[in-house]
Amino acid sequence: KAKVIPRDAHPISRKQVSRAALNVLYGLHKAGFEAYLVGGCLRDLLCGRQPKDFDVVTDATPEQVYRLFKRSRIIGRRFQIVHVRFGGEVIEVSTFRAFQRDDDLDDDQHRAHEETGLVLRDNTWGNIEEDALRRDFTINALYYNIADFALYDFVNSRQDIERGIIRLIGDPQQRYREDPVRMLRAARFAAKLGFQLDRATRAPIPEMASLLLQVPPARLFDEVLKLFLSGHARDSFEQLRKLGLFAFLFPNTHEALESEQGEVWERLILAAMDNTDRRLSENKPVTPAFLYAVFLWPVLVTQLNRYREDGIPPAPALHKAATWALNEQSHHTSVPRRFSSVMREMWDLQPRLDKRNGKRADTLMEHPRFRAAYDFLLLREQAGEIKPGLGEWWTRYQAADESQQRAMVQDLG
Ligand code: ATP
Ligand code: MG
Repeated sequence: KAKVIPRDAHPISRKQVSRAALNVLYGLHKAGFEAYLVGGCLRDLLCGRQPKDFDVVTDATPEQVYRLFKRSRIIGRRFQIVHVRFGGEVIEVSTFRAFQRDDDLDDDQHRAHEETGLVLRDNTWGNIEEDALRRDFTINALYYNIADFALYDFVNSRQDIERGIIRLIGDPQQRYREDPVRMLRAARFAAKLGFQLDRATRAPIPEMASLLLQVPPARLFDEVLKLFLSGHARDSFEQLRKLGLFAFLFPNTHEALESEQGEVWERLILAAMDNTDRRLSENKPVTPAFLYAVFLWPVLVTQLNRYREDGIPPAPALHKAATWALNEQSHHTSVPRRFSSVMREMWDLQPRLDKRNGKRADTLMEHPRFRAAYDFLLLREQAGEIKPGLGEWWTRYQAADESQQRAMVQDLG
């Protein structure tokens, strides 16, 4: 049933494949097993992009793979895969499977499967065709066989990659019901690759988007990072908004975007998206804390205004609003504490950046979050949330020498 595309009819060459991945493929092959590259790496190579990593599939069981490679580790309990190390690289090796992946299941499914135990695990091994059909999109289901250097194409993967079409394998509604995260993956691949969603793949998304509310927050957090910290944040944001998915990842932010102040918040978020994409293209570090500080700022400000109307003074109102925004968000995507504590500091510094008298400016500049808070302030000014001036003052202050700095503080009066 597979379309076999022989070596001379496709452009994938072993030169494009990492040393580590080739070692794993040849190791399996020499031991008499089938071994293929699969999925994202072939998609990326056919699009002329550098793959992030190379995934291998085989008919060898995890135990057999583990015994074959010295520096390997079995990962996961039920649907085991093997991590094989070569140099600094880790190659993920999985065994052909007929059923869905462990992490595709929600918590209830996990529990149900826990009870049925081993039987189910044995039944999940499959052949290559079954393995292809349980994958999400046609563009992610291409195989490269190390035995004959041919591509194996079960679902017209090559054509969809060449035409730039994202198409779910099987019945879209059923595949989204099995795993709602596939809706986010569709948006992500559209943003990352500049591909179009096929009509049938796109159509059910708006009405099924609320299924995301049932996905464990930790898994959604991981997916949010892939959407917004991989160099295509702006396109991801726009895709998620168009498909009606954003409202189920960041419900309160969505509400703020739909409010009277909505245009300001949209400018703020888009400015942050562009900023993140630019930093990544310059190989500068980006952090989930900054991203989340921006997404939740409109929520915080809205709540802060309510507390202020109730007569709560500014500083405690800010703290309460921060707690509220973080707690609300944690029901949808988790926000690990190592990030939320940084976010609080960045938020806390916003009003304090205006208080620059005496030695305060120098003290502020030594704060570990000064730089992030300053960058954030610039975005707020750029978006028109607050009037410009303060950011520019800080830009000059940081570049000034000591006597100029003293003069600047004196000028404040
Ligand atoms: P990326 O470049 O983002 O790594 P990728 O295609 O490699 O893209 P992964 O998340 O690394 O994506 O997943 C590896 C492969 O596993 C995919 O190519 C796809 O075939 C399969 N897969 C991943 N997630 C799912 C899912 N939720 N449902 C079905 N198949 C999936
Ligand atoms: Mg991958």
